[in-house]
Amino acid sequence: MYQNYNMNQLVLPIDLEVKLQENDIAFVINDLVESIPEEAFENFLRKTGRPSYHPRMMLKITLCAYSQSVFSGRKIEALLKDSIRMMWLAQGYEPSYRTINRFRVDPDVQELLRQLFIQFRCQLVEEKIIDHDAIFIDGTKIEANANKFTFVWKKAVKNYSEKLIENSNKIYDELLEKEIIPEIKRESPDELSITELEEIAERLEETVNDYNKKIEECELGSERKKIRSERKFPKQALKRIKDFIDRKKKYAQDMDIFGERNSYSKTDHDATFMRMKDDYMRNGQLKPGYNVQIATEGQYTLAYDVFPNPTDTRTFIPFLDKIEKHFFDLPDYIVADAGYGSEQNYHDVLENRNRTPLITYNSYRKEQKRKYKNDPFKTDNWEYNGEHDYYVCPNGQKLTFQYFFNRTDRYGFTREFRVYQSENCNDCPLRSHCTKAKEGNNRRLFINKKWEEQKEYIRTKLSEEETGDIYKKRKIDVEPVFGFLKANLSFTRFSVRGKSKVENELAFALMAVNLRKYTAKIQNENNPNNPKQNRNCGNNNSMLIPQFFSSKTGYVPASFLLFFVQCQIVLVGFIFSRE
Ligand code: SF4
Repeated sequence: MYQNYNMNQLVLPIDLEVKLQENDIAFVINDLVESIPEEAFENFLRKTGRPSYHPRMMLKITLCAYSQSVFSGRKIEALLKDSIRMMWLAQGYEPSYRTINRFRVDPDVQELLRQLFIQFRCQLVEEKIIDHDAIFIDGTKIEANANKFTFVWKKAVKNYSEKLIENSNKIYDELLEKEIIPEIKRESPDELSITELEEIAERLEETVNDYNKKIEECELGSERKKIRSERKFPKQALKRIKDFIDRKKKYAQDMDIFGERNSYSKTDHDATFMRMKDDYMRNGQLKPGYNVQIATEGQYTLAYDVFPNPTDTRTFIPFLDKIEKHFFDLPDYIVADAGYGSEQNYHDVLENRNRTPLITYNSYRKEQKRKYKNDPFKTDNWEYNGEHDYYVCPNGQKLTFQYFFNRTDRYGFTREFRVYQSENCNDCPLRSHCTKAKEGNNRRLFINKKWEEQKEYIRTKLSEEETGDIYKKRKIDVEPVFGFLKANLSFTRFSVRGKSKVENELAFALMAVNLRKYTAKIQNENNPNNPKQNRNCGNNNSMLIPQFFSSKTGYVPASFLLFFVQCQIVLVGFIFSRE
């Protein structure tokens, strides 16, 4: 016997909502997007033209598609025709892939996504899922939508540019020497600017034209040949100067695109070549990508940003600025790994923001080891006399203070060092273990007092129970989010080009991860098979009947149901008679 199956039966259209499971991700998306205030959508309103799709609807379907690991515009369009969730969220509308693609990279969507993150965080705080004690910051690199072999290197451009200057100067000097063109007014004696090169090209063109005229007018073959050979050099020079002008313009444009970076991709100018952890080519080749920074709590992403520079240290301060300006007030503790530990970052968190950094530094783990602590040649283990300001080396010599030394990095941050020097290292039997200084030079010690104090502060904080426990959470808070994003959601490559578009796409992907986690949480909480939930029920008699009816069985025969209802009535009667 089969279950009833009849294709000719008249079926009336029903509201798709009833087809969705309780606590489906579509409901979570719907509630979240509906919580965004109406004012946030005002920029999308157009008074002329065809009425557009509602941005709430577009936001919901894009989020839903991303939560199902569908990132292609055409596939999202296809999903609108066969996914009940998508049909319900779109309420039967079917925007084309062009509309979807245009919407998700629209600059106005950036504000909507920001609102989405703010509303989501408020919801988490309200439901006491997060407590806003600390935020956990980390970064990862995600491949850009650009060809892997389209690199332009800053060093190469600089080298070519230098050679171009040298060659253009040489050719100009030669032209003056042969008196082909008159001397021009130069801004700098070292380099010919584009305008100056254009002026030279103009003069050369006139000279070549004069020669051309002479050749045309000349009737004697031998004479024409002579003029032609005279024309040869200015003609060649003109060709080269024109080439120099084009290249010089291109190099200037390249330098503009580089900014502070060392490379860019010709396909996506905002992407920088960086080393990725996931090296699927297995040759260590740098790939075009973006450095993604996120701030999390309870494994939910609360803020995000995209940076073109591959090092995390440089992204920390601008990221905190962005969080404060666009997302929320910083909590008391800011937790990050050793990649963010620098004097500038500690100073910023402690002095400018009045918060506590729980951020280790590069040598923190090493310093905890017994081998390090027992090494007499590590300067951290040398005895220091605070009263007379000197260090004592393993050979018993004093290293006394000599002078101050300032070092400014290429980003303009200055570090102050106190330089100490030993009296005489020449006959020291420990010299080979202690210093690599040239023979005749004494050992010098560069001490950055501020950095040492900051390191001491971090060591103290991490050894305290409360703050130590917060730092320990870092690994299980922020790191899994990248796992969810890359392994579970399969978001390993951007599908759009340009920083602002990439930022939008990243926000969609991170919010999709958040929503998946949040939905799984509420589904788990409402699952009657969840042992955590059953434990709470215990022997509570009043829960007997609801538990029976919340059975997950899809189809129950009427006779079977009647039998169990009778049993239940008998059981309830029995309980009441006992009470
Ligand atoms: S090399 Fe100089 S500083 Fe090092 S242990 Fe010998 S005397 Fe001391």
